[in-house]
Amino acid sequence: MSSNTFDVIIVGAGPAGTTAALILARKGLKVILIERGEFPGAKNMFGGALFGRVLDEIIPEYWAKAPVERFINRKIITLLAEDSAVSLDFNSAAFKQAPYNGFVVMRTRFDRWYAVEAVKAGAVLLTQTTVDDVIREGNQVVGVVARRAQGELRAKVVIAADGALSFLAQKAGLRKDFTPEQFSLGVKEVIQLPPGALEERFGLTGDEGLSNEYLGRMGDGLHGGAFLYTNKDSLSIGVVAQAHSLKEKQVTIYDALEKFKRHPAVAPLLEGGRFLEYSAHLIPEAGANMIPRLYTGGMLVTGNAAGLVLVGGVFLEGVNCAIASGRIAAETVLQAFEKGIFDKRAMAEYEARLKASFVLRDINRYKSAIPLLMNKRLYEVYPSFACRTLENWFTVDGTGHPKLAGMVKGLLGEDVGLWQLAGDGYQMGRALLW
Ligand SMILES: Cc1cc2nc3c(=O)[nH]c(=O)nc-3n(C[C@H](O)[C@H](O)[C@H](O)COP(=O)(O)OP(=O)(O)OC[C@H]3O[C@@H](n4cnc5c(N)ncnc54)[C@H](O)[C@@H]3O)c2cc1C
Repeated sequence: MSSNTFDVIIVGAGPAGTTAALILARKGLKVILIERGEFPGAKNMFGGALFGRVLDEIIPEYWAKAPVERFINRKIITLLAEDSAVSLDFNSAAFKQAPYNGFVVMRTRFDRWYAVEAVKAGAVLLTQTTVDDVIREGNQVVGVVARRAQGELRAKVVIAADGALSFLAQKAGLRKDFTPEQFSLGVKEVIQLPPGALEERFGLTGDEGLSNEYLGRMGDGLHGGAFLYTNKDSLSIGVVAQAHSLKEKQVTIYDALEKFKRHPAVAPLLEGGRFLEYSAHLIPEAGANMIPRLYTGGMLVTGNAAGLVLVGGVFLEGVNCAIASGRIAAETVLQAFEKGIFDKRAMAEYEARLKASFVLRDINRYKSAIPLLMNKRLYEVYPSFACRTLENWFTVDGTGHPKLAGMVKGLLGEDVGLWQLAGDGYQMGRALLW
């Protein structure tokens, strides 16, 4: 085998690509993991929750080795109105126990650590190298073109793990052009808090941590949400906005983040904080509607490159889907090596396995959540409706407390009609409940 020939080429050292590299290298295959960033994680960001049960199966008790910040035992969902907020605060003792439901992690540290695990298993990691194209022979992908001297690399299988915009899947003819409706843009700041502030403000002890997701009008009418995660001694805080609403409303996402940080329910949490870093990234959010063809002869598409993110309003899970799809891709490749067959039919096994896994089952199960997330009343009406209703109900001003149902009826019609409310309730139920 020449130095430019490998068993498997993997493009992108995010969770999907690194998982595939780790599993294949452990089995003794000659694997190269190519990453455009200066190091794995240098170009990656997310909100903060690693739902790591799937990683525990690959690296048992990963939390004792990986750079995790805090386990997540509290999940808060908040509806935001202009100057008030209402939250559902879930706190679980079970989530404090191994194998833990999730951890807050920072991608710059986590992805770097994870790629080193793949290298320890025998994978070659090539950083600061962008892959520009695939090499085809007939119907078969047989390698890639990397942007460097002698950049033609060949392999029996190429795994595209190159993230949300996957130019590789496009070059291989596996996906169509995207539309703005298929993406959201997320921006995040990490804010260092004074010593002890995190524990005091969020009631945390030891390694306890929380995630807080917010829904409401972001900035001046952007459709999306916001998030807050507790790191060891800092906060990750950010805003996510649907790309089409950014275009329509002519609002910048930076303004939305600044406005979110000034909200009376958020500002006190950040007091005395020091800005540490800023990042931005796209999220493929159209679920089952944006999944490309997942394979062709000699090639598989994984993780965000394949649109494999569970977006369900109350869920945003991409890293676990990326790890699971990277593992399933590796298992498909191992089977192909056993048989010595790498054509389209051999690669089709990948899709069959993904369909049988939680990844495609959940994405299909929650596909009605995608049109729900396009419903503008979810951002423009209901959060403020809920807050206003509770504000009126809890106000003690000597005029007495009307019954809640009567008050809802009174407020109905101002923003939303009864039939519309019933229709949206049904849409919400279909998306999340049944
Ligand atoms: C704002 C935001 C918040 C999120 N919050 C969460 C969360 O809390 N929990 C969760 O589970 N998920 C979350 N996600 C989703 C999650 O980040 C992704 O689903 C996950 O990172 C996908 O992993 P991946 O390995 O497929 O792709 P990525 O992590 O995007 O990795 C792709 C890699 O490929 C490299 N690359 C790209 N093109 C090339 C090329 N041509 N050549 C070489 N290298 C290339 C990139 O540099 C990158 O390292 C969030 C996403 C965003 C944007």
